[in-house]
Amino acid sequence: MIAAKGYAAPAPKEKLGHWDFERREVGPHDVQFDIHYCGVCHSDLHQVNNDWFPGIFPMVPGHEIVGKVVAVGSEVKNFKVGDLAGVGCLVDSCRTCENCKKDLEQYCLNGNVGTYNSKDKQGNPTYGGYSNTIVVDEAFVLHVSDKLPLAAVAPLLCAGITTYSPLRHWKVGKGHKLAVLGLGGLGHMAVKFGVAFGAEVTVLSTSPRKEEDAKKLGAHKFVVTTDKEQVAAVKGYFDFILDTVSAEHDLNMYLGMLATDGTHICVGAPSEPSPVRAFSLLGGRKSLAGSGIGGIAETQEMLDFCAENNIVSEIEMIDIKDIQTAYDRMLKGDVRYRFVIDIATL
Ligand code: NAP
Ligand code: ZN
Ligand code: ZN
Repeated sequence: MIAAKGYAAPAPKEKLGHWDFERREVGPHDVQFDIHYCGVCHSDLHQVNNDWFPGIFPMVPGHEIVGKVVAVGSEVKNFKVGDLAGVGCLVDSCRTCENCKKDLEQYCLNGNVGTYNSKDKQGNPTYGGYSNTIVVDEAFVLHVSDKLPLAAVAPLLCAGITTYSPLRHWKVGKGHKLAVLGLGGLGHMAVKFGVAFGAEVTVLSTSPRKEEDAKKLGAHKFVVTTDKEQVAAVKGYFDFILDTVSAEHDLNMYLGMLATDGTHICVGAPSEPSPVRAFSLLGGRKSLAGSGIGGIAETQEMLDFCAENNIVSEIEMIDIKDIQTAYDRMLKGDVRYRFVIDIATL
């Protein structure tokens, strides 16, 4: 086994701290890379807090992982020692079901293996990127361009693909009015992609102080959702709303902002269900949809698109010891716009 250092939550809702553990030996198809940076996703906080389901503890969160390859198995074809590499939310799937065959490993019908808080095919718990090294089958390792600043690439592995994938699936682009609901880690990447794809982008936010940043990110309009007049002014306006909100919110109000045949796409994953009135949908033939991360091929496509178009995340680098403060700030919506852990501080 390979000795690894991590930062783990010992039990639900408890503070994270240093924890030593082991990674599996590098198998014939495995890539081992030393982690340089790991982004902090709101999903890390949801899972440490058991918001969605009872988690596996100790939990080493982190699924926005980038670093440099230090070892490869005998059968590995696409990576060599010294390459930059990334891992997102998935480290394995059945690879044989209908969805896996269509490059939709995120929707594996037999259950995929998450990067942390999951069990691998041998039944061992998986541990994420708040750690110094990781071993992953090469089929789930991404190539990272050396043209982009590595720390700012890390959040692309979740926040990037989670917003890129639905915008591509629904073919959002020129001629569309796109609203990005919530300007945090996912939201700010959605703005960048929406603008890059040619849509008119509006940020819907509870934080008036983020307006200037939204415009700098390329957004054309900004609506403060606690201001009744501003909300009324966008009634029936948008073709798409990409909803990145992490906490309870009234979907009916936002559905009222959709134009006829508009689609509200949930990517945010609050712990509580949101009641939706049938009338919010049927008056205007509106759709309520959802999207989860993205498959491996599409994640690579997104990383390549970012390298070609010079797109990265806006980050605030933190020491590992400051993770709790980062979580507290994230809960208050005070994120500009993704915390990234400098793993050298572990
Ligand atoms: P984040 O950085 O904390 O951003 C969430 C943003 O939502 C906040 O900055 C805030 O923006 C807004 N918000 C928070 N509470 C709100 C409330 N009560 N009402 C209205 N707006 C509120 O979080 P993130 O990392 O982007 O993740 C967002 C959500 O997506 C989380 O639930 C996460 O688990 C989920 N997620 C899902 C997937 C997937 O595959 N679908 C992947 C990754 C993450 P404003 O200040 O602008 O209002
Ligand atoms: Zn995530
Ligand atoms: Zn599958």
